[in-house]
Amino acid sequence: MSPSDLIRFVLVRTSHPGNIGSAARAMRTMGLTRMALVAPQRFPHPDAAALAAGADDVMGSAGVHDELVGGLAGCSLALGLSARRRGVDLPELTPREAAERALAAAARGEQVALVFGNERTGLENDELARCHAMVRIPSVDDFSSLNLSQAVQVMAYELRLALLGDLPLAPAPREDAEPPADAEKMERFFAHLAQTLDDIEFHKGRSANVIMLRLRKLFQRAQMDERELRILHGILADAQRMAGLANAKR
Ligand code: SAH
Repeated sequence: MSPSDLIRFVLVRTSHPGNIGSAARAMRTMGLTRMALVAPQRFPHPDAAALAAGADDVMGSAGVHDELVGGLAGCSLALGLSARRRGVDLPELTPREAAERALAAAARGEQVALVFGNERTGLENDELARCHAMVRIPSVDDFSSLNLSQAVQVMAYELRLALLGDLPLAPAPREDAEPPADAEKMERFFAHLAQTLDDIEFHKGRSANVIMLRLRKLFQRAQMDERELRILHGILADAQRMAGLANAKR
């Protein structure tokens, strides 16, 4: 599979169907065809087809998901595009750095997601928290937000340049290498972690959400493989068992 087939454009809660069509066209011109739609407000729609201008194959094969985690399935690297810095302080990449990082991962056979937010509200903090880094197109501060499909075009163009350039190919992963943990496995881990923190009464009145966002950031940064995740699940399961024993003695 070519690296461009492993790179997916994920459009989250898109309100204007025309933007979905324009994004498909923007991708198709740069040889990128993998699109995923998360909770689009209106899709399929004649405006989407009209603006795709022949890139219907991209839209036709797009997966439609209720939740972001579905759109990220199988991906071990997710890069969130945002015009503004949000509460989550993720490492920030330029589109060029993002393209290089995405291609390097794809060259190792990993699936990569580029995540784009809703036209009005952008990506929410909990959506950015599922990303490993944030990508900001360096627009001017007092008018920073591009049209969604134009942001898609900029990112697709940078990927095209990187694909055409002689990006040194990353060494192939070793045969016995553990696969990197994908978005769904990470989500299951975070659910287990949240439950365990409850079970061991870690929060003591503090906000569980704030802690979970920080822990997400920490563990996302680690880009764990499946074996490491199994070890952590094992530790959590033991902590839950011990908490159960302690409760039984009370
Ligand atoms: N008011 C929203 C703008 C949303 S524009 C906000 O502040 O985020 C729709 C989407 O296009 C964004 O969610 C983002 O994914 C992308 N986008 C627009 N301008 C961008 C920029 N300067 N850098 C990176 N992504 C951008």
